[in-house]
Amino acid sequence: MRQVQDQARRGELPPGDVEQALGTAVAARCATTLRPVLNATGVIVHTNLGRAPLSPAAVEAVVAASGYVDVELDLADGSRSRRGAGARAALLAACPAAEDALVVNNGAAALVLATTALAAGREIVVSRGELVEIGAGFRLTDLMESTGARLREIGTTNRTHLRDYAGALGPDTGCVLKVHPSNFRVDGFTSAVPLHELGPLAAANGVPLVADLGSGLLAPDPHLPDEPDVASALVGGADVVIASGDKLLGGPQAGLLLGRKETIARLARHPLARAVRADKLALAALEATVAGGPPPVVQSLHADAGELLRRTERLAQELRVPVLPHDGRVGGGGAPGFPLPGWALRLPEGLARLLRTGDPAVLPRVHDGSCLIDLRCVPPADDERILDAVRYALGALQAADAGAAG
Ligand SMILES: *Cc1c(COP(=O)(O)O)cnc(C)c1O
Repeated sequence: MRQVQDQARRGELPPGDVEQALGTAVAARCATTLRPVLNATGVIVHTNLGRAPLSPAAVEAVVAASGYVDVELDLADGSRSRRGAGARAALLAACPAAEDALVVNNGAAALVLATTALAAGREIVVSRGELVEIGAGFRLTDLMESTGARLREIGTTNRTHLRDYAGALGPDTGCVLKVHPSNFRVDGFTSAVPLHELGPLAAANGVPLVADLGSGLLAPDPHLPDEPDVASALVGGADVVIASGDKLLGGPQAGLLLGRKETIARLARHPLARAVRADKLALAALEATVAGGPPPVVQSLHADAGELLRRTERLAQELRVPVLPHDGRVGGGGAPGFPLPGWALRLPEGLARLLRTGDPAVLPRVHDGSCLIDLRCVPPADDERILDAVRYALGALQAADAGAAG
């Protein structure tokens, strides 16, 4: 890898060929083409980087579960057991407001399962202000309509009232759905019905209330005051709450369904549940994430500001580059627009590509004509690797500039 970089630096490889040469070198080294990346963007849940990095406990659990494992077996009597019982128990211990839990492949699968089992051939009552496109062109509306349910849209983009819900409920209602607008915010003349007001209305009408929260906080986090959490949604009256495993929960890709015993049982019995079941590696990682210490996502979210500044300034002094204030973000489906104040090294924009294609690969943020390095999502143990990578890239850039000038 370094060899390729040295060649590139000496100008022995045309710039256009560097990427391919690096790719070949990496492929020769390990059996996957996926490359580990140091996330220097300050965006914690970065969809293009696979969302949440796993905690050491989760990594260990994945390795342990990679061979034969008792995922559906009671070792004491040799009989078949409930799949993923450990992950379920960990979720229920961490979220006592839930009577039962089911883990599926991802959040979208959880939503499809819930709406299919509760509302296929009938209506899903949902506010117009909550019809979300979740990224890469995927819309929750299309997902839900693919289940054979009909969307009964109520209210307007900016305002929906309790009477709108009340007026829409009837014999054809399969469920009421409340979606957390996890990737945008509507400001100004707005009004939405909070779950704790919707809960009693749904209950009085005997209609299940589904809350799709997205982000996956199990309990409130004072760092993110506007972010909904599973426990509060259940206390507020939701029958089923949906969340992703790899957003703010900081675990593997998974879809969590937590809620009332009878409702979860109804979902678990549906044939679709088998098509979206979680694999053993995800179940192992999820259990370890929930039961173990704080995962990297939580550490990045709660990173100490003084410590971040000290780390950034040390690298800045070594590299002789400026530090500037820089807001990190929660990213991918959580706390949209909510700033996480921190700092960044400011580097020439031309460095970004060299950093991305270097070894280790470093993803900086390119903004306003600069290449920014934010250490929020970099484990402190990797500061030296960032330092080396930036030094190396600065050297390559200078050599290229000198070459161009000469
Ligand atoms: C992220 C998100 C989803 C989709 O979850 P995946 O785990 O990405 O499939 C669904 N609904 C909301 C509100 C989300 O934020």
